[in-house]
Amino acid sequence: MKWSDVLQFAGKGNLTPPKRVVKGDEDWKKILTPEEFHVTRKKGTEQAFSGEYCQAHEPGLYACRCCGTVLFDSRTKFESGTGWPSFTDSIEPNVIKYTKDVSFGMTRVEVECSVCDCHLGHVFPDGPKPTGLRFCINSFSIKLVGQI
Ligand code: FE
Repeated sequence: MKWSDVLQFAGKGNLTPPKRVVKGDEDWKKILTPEEFHVTRKKGTEQAFSGEYCQAHEPGLYACRCCGTVLFDSRTKFESGTGWPSFTDSIEPNVIKYTKDVSFGMTRVEVECSVCDCHLGHVFPDGPKPTGLRFCINSFSIKLVGQI
């Protein structure tokens, strides 16, 4: 994935997701804590340096907290110093949905799980090699599952 790909997806449409999981808020509330619901379904942002994966270094895969789709690999996780878990890429291009976000007076690219529309965070073009991308992700939106 490159920043030009991100802009292309955000502007002209995303790849077809591997599957779809569609539920209403009441059903999500049954399986999510109030904090998880706020971040994942209402586009909330957890406080910087508060999340459980902010400084996690365990190897493994990170799945969507809502639907369980594997989204990130710990081998692409890096210390961004921002206070949020940061990755240089997703595990597959089609598991992420990219959307232009002009809220709060900024122009950013929001990233969501393409399967269930879980709000994950944003992606920025200031990450390290090899992609130069920084996926800035809420810990509440992901779950470390299994080892590699
Ligand atoms: Fe999901």
